[in-house]
Amino acid sequence: NKVFRPRETPSLQDPLHWPHFLELANQFDAAYLGRYIAENDYPKTVYSNTPSIKCINPADQRDEIGEVIEADLAQIEMAYHNAQCHQVAWAQKSVRERARLIMAVADQLELQKGVLIHLLVRESGKTISNAQSEYREAIDFCRYYASLAQVDWNDMPPPPLGIVIAISPWNFPLAIFVGQICTALLAGNVVIAKPAPETPLIAAQAIACFHLAGVPAECLQLLLGGAAVGAALTMDHRCNGVSFTGSLATASKIRRALAEFGADRVLVAETGGINAMIVDSSAQTEQIIRDILTSAFDGAGQRCSALRVLCIQTDIAEHIINRLKNCMRELVIGNPARFSTEIGPVIHQTAEQKIYSAINHFQQLKYPVFQSNLMDECIHGHYVAPTLIEIPKLSEIKDEIFGPVLFIYRYHAQQLTPMLNAINRLGYSLTMGIQSRIERNIKSIINQTRIGNYYVNRNQIGAIVGSQPFGGVNKSGTGPKAGGPWALSRMCKNIDPCQPH
Ligand code: GLU
Repeated sequence: NKVFRPRETPSLQDPLHWPHFLELANQFDAAYLGRYIAENDYPKTVYSNTPSIKCINPADQRDEIGEVIEADLAQIEMAYHNAQCHQVAWAQKSVRERARLIMAVADQLELQKGVLIHLLVRESGKTISNAQSEYREAIDFCRYYASLAQVDWNDMPPPPLGIVIAISPWNFPLAIFVGQICTALLAGNVVIAKPAPETPLIAAQAIACFHLAGVPAECLQLLLGGAAVGAALTMDHRCNGVSFTGSLATASKIRRALAEFGADRVLVAETGGINAMIVDSSAQTEQIIRDILTSAFDGAGQRCSALRVLCIQTDIAEHIINRLKNCMRELVIGNPARFSTEIGPVIHQTAEQKIYSAINHFQQLKYPVFQSNLMDECIHGHYVAPTLIEIPKLSEIKDEIFGPVLFIYRYHAQQLTPMLNAINRLGYSLTMGIQSRIERNIKSIINQTRIGNYYVNRNQIGAIVGSQPFGGVNKSGTGPKAGGPWALSRMCKNIDPCQPH
């Protein structure tokens, strides 16, 4: 499936290839950080000598960044014990004091900009510009939630849940990780954080920022590991709430596990989306092409918010699709550490294979498939060529494909309502793009659908903390929205679940 395009480019092995990062991160030595964590040197964080996870650069599998150790049952037990012993003292701190500490976390993150951006590029395969915006988002979460806590509660906070487990994804290993922890801590909970096994070094670096800022180590503990560690943490009677971002399947398992221990256990989940963009014939060509490319392929399509199905009115479809293909031929897909790269790798081999096998399925059905070219250097990493697949009906889409794959569906103006019904039947409700210059059409689409975030005449990714609260309904999540005014209250007891979020 892969098409390699030769292009003159420095090799990833070239030590000069990372200079701008080394400049930014002069104190950073990846191998050292990996050992540091593995040898249990890390402040108050628990590791065992059982299975280890290797951290590999998704852009080049020869680049081993570090190795971390998975938590075992004894350490999970110890983490719960520490959490129980410190929960009351943390809850008794004033809101002002907790907010002061979270503001100080933001300052620490700022001090560590070089290391964090380096790790975001090297451990999670983000492009430099994506890494920079994620780094910024993490800081915004701290400051936004800390201000919100003080304004909302005025030192009279509702009671906390108790012990909260934060399970974060690899696609926003810094921003979502930090955001989940901040909401839980500010509300007076103690937190056990279990980041995605793909990005433990970024998580460890972020936890260091919390501890350096003065958050007691027992109030925020880091446990590394995969699904088994996550399951052990959530299937425990001492778990009062879970803040989770990841797959729908895992969210459902967590919900069932929590239900075993009582209806008061809280799950805040943000899952996936089969997000559409509706383009009518009044839309502006140049703008749509750019918005489609960004929405579908930025971050190699590994965002929950990413555009998955482009619904385009037949009158302009041919013209737009041709322009889109021409632009896709020119995309720079390769090493994310280069400033000119537009699209980096997917997270690992399993993801790469899963995405290619989904593409194969549609090729076998003989639907038209178009792909961008990959550069030679991509052979060393896990890359998927941005792909278009034209489908005759929306029901062909069964699942979210978490990568740079965009379905195209052409519709006639009079089919708008049945098409929106078909989108509703997919069951996900996270983002929707609407490209139209006819107000009546925009309103009609919004009225006939129920989506978390609508984006009109712009791209549909990258919600901004504080001004564009982000989150979905139905199969896309429980709410409340991240970066919005209700995010903190869900981490407290006795909150009316019927209130809007
Ligand atoms: N908040 C991100 C955005 O607006 C998406 C988060 C996610 O993928 O979970 O693009």
